[in-house]
Amino acid sequence: MEKKNLDWGNLGFAYHVTDYRYVSMFQNGAWDDGALITDDKIVMSEDAGVLHYSQSVFEGLKAYETEDGHIVCFRPDLNASRMADSAARLEMPAFPEDRFVDAVVETVRANAAWVPPYGSGATLYVRPMMFGISPVIGVKPADDYMFRIFVTPVGPYFKGGAKPIYVRVSDFDRAAPRGTGHIKAGLNYAMSLHAIVDAHKKGFAENIYLDPGTRTRIEETGGANIIFVDADGNLVIPASTSILPSITRRSIHYVAENYLGLKVTEREVTLQEVKEGNFVECGLCGTAAVISPVGMINDHGEDIAFPSGMEKMGPTMQKLYDTLTGIQMGRIEAPEGWIVRIM
Ligand SMILES: *Cc1c(COP(=O)(O)O)cnc(C)c1O
Repeated sequence: MEKKNLDWGNLGFAYHVTDYRYVSMFQNGAWDDGALITDDKIVMSEDAGVLHYSQSVFEGLKAYETEDGHIVCFRPDLNASRMADSAARLEMPAFPEDRFVDAVVETVRANAAWVPPYGSGATLYVRPMMFGISPVIGVKPADDYMFRIFVTPVGPYFKGGAKPIYVRVSDFDRAAPRGTGHIKAGLNYAMSLHAIVDAHKKGFAENIYLDPGTRTRIEETGGANIIFVDADGNLVIPASTSILPSITRRSIHYVAENYLGLKVTEREVTLQEVKEGNFVECGLCGTAAVISPVGMINDHGEDIAFPSGMEKMGPTMQKLYDTLTGIQMGRIEAPEGWIVRIM
C-alpha cells in the first residue's frame, strides 16, 4: 500500500478530506447495516435536531503505525462505551459498542494510505460522531440519527510539540456541577470558543477551568484533563464529577502505577495549593494533547511557575510520555486489550 504524498513531519492539527468515511443511520427505531462511503458532504433538513438544540456527541482516538509496520489503535472499546454514555445523557440511541469498534477498524483500514509513517511525529486522528438528523421544532429529541466516522492525519495539537505551554485560569465556566461536563458533547465546546479565542489573543495556549460551584478547585482545560506531579515525584489527578473522563488520563494512571511504580492519587485539587507550590510538574493530557507539559499558569496576572520550567518537559512527565507513546507505537508491551491491530 502506497502512502499519500504529504509532508508528514510538518502536519498541524487540522482537517484533511480523506478517502473513506463510515456512515450508519438510525431510522424507524433501529440502526441500519452501515457502510463506507466516499462523499464527505452531509445533506440534511434545515430543521435537523443538531442544528437547533445541539443534539450531538463525538469521540476522538488515534491510529498509529508501529515500529514493525502494523497499524493499530488504542483502547477503542473505551471510546465506544463513553460514546454510549454521552448519547444516553442527550437522549440519543447508543451505537452498539462492538459495532463501534468494528467501524473504527474498517474506516482506518480503508484509509491506510493516510496513516502517517512511524517516527514522523504524526498520527491518524479518528473522529466518530453522532447527531440528531430528523426535523425537530419543539424542544425534544430527534427521531433519526446519523453515526459517522472520519479520519484525518494530524501533527501535534499545541504548536511546538513537547515544549511547555503557558495557560491561564479562566473567568468563564466550562461545566455546571450537575450538567454535562462528563460527556463528550459539542455543546461543551460551543461555549468554550469565546474563552479560547480570548486566551489565544492574550498569549495563552489554553484555559484552565475551575469548579463553577466554588471556583476554588482545578477541573480541566477546554479539551484536555490536567495532571500534576508533587514534590515526592508522585502523580496527583484532580477529581470532579464534571471532568470529562479522559481515556489518556485513565491510561496514564495505570501506567504510572504499574509501569513506573509511582503513587497515584485522584482527589480534589485546589488552585490555592497549586499557588503554594505543592506541585513540581503539570501537564495536559488527552488523545489530541497526548501529554503536553504546562510550564506556567497565569491566575489573573499572577504567574505560577513550575520548577520544570518553560524549556522542556519535567522528568516525570517525560517518563509518562515515553511509556504511554511507547505502548501506543508498539515499542513497549501493552496491557492486555489496550492495542487493537488493524492491519
Ligand atoms: C476528549 C476530551 C478529553 C480527553 O479525553 P481522551 O479520551 O483522553 O482523548 C479531555 N477533556 C475534554 C473536555 C474532552 O472533550
